[in-house]
Amino acid sequence: MMVIGLLGGMSWESSAEYYRLVNERVKALLGGFHSAHTVLYSVDFAAIEAMQAEGRWDDAGAELNRAAKALEAAGADFVVLCTNTMHKVADRLEDGLGIPLLHLGDATAAAVKAAGIRRIGLLGTGFTMGQPFYRDRLAAHGLDVLVPSAEDRDLVHRVIYDELVLGVVEDASREAYRGVIARLAEAGAEGVIYGCTEIELLVGPEDSPVPTFPTTRLHAEAAVDYALGTTSLPRPPT
Ligand code: GLU
Repeated sequence: MMVIGLLGGMSWESSAEYYRLVNERVKALLGGFHSAHTVLYSVDFAAIEAMQAEGRWDDAGAELNRAAKALEAAGADFVVLCTNTMHKVADRLEDGLGIPLLHLGDATAAAVKAAGIRRIGLLGTGFTMGQPFYRDRLAAHGLDVLVPSAEDRDLVHRVIYDELVLGVVEDASREAYRGVIARLAEAGAEGVIYGCTEIELLVGPEDSPVPTFPTTRLHAEAAVDYALGTTSLPRPPT
């Protein structure tokens, strides 16, 4: 079994889920006393959030590059960046790194395509929904990506930063998300990506009229399958 390098803390609420999910999957697949072989590097999210808010993405990329190299030095065989948003700096993170990054967008796209879906809705932070770095990665797999209206994007983003990354889960926000998801489905989305690693703390498949793709679970599962050698590293088609 390869050593999974979890680069987390963005937020720790979702990193805890990653840790649980990789261990649950290893146990389900191998049974007995088996558990996931992992190294965790967890950042202080306050520093990262400030860099995001101030647009200091180069600084954030340098910080994550240092963290990824620390995972490599600690024996990780590959890196799992436990946040969708920070894939914005994936290239910088990989700079001079001797181990691969299992890109969350690639793992998610593989699951969407395996479900036979092409037109997919995307929920995430304002950065993930509004900027090209994540949508383009999905589009490279042949997916047609739909994002909510500007008003709905604000709502989704606000709930992530004001509530979910702080461990707050509100029924009213779940109801509001259901509305956003329903509007994406009405606009033609055949499925919806929960493209922020805290979103599945709030909503599940039962909150959507179309199939859902929870990125924390999908990423954790892809990490275990790669670590066990049952799949190759998901990549965009060349
Ligand atoms: N965990 C979130 C994501 O998946 C948001 C927090 C962050 O900005 O990293 O995008």
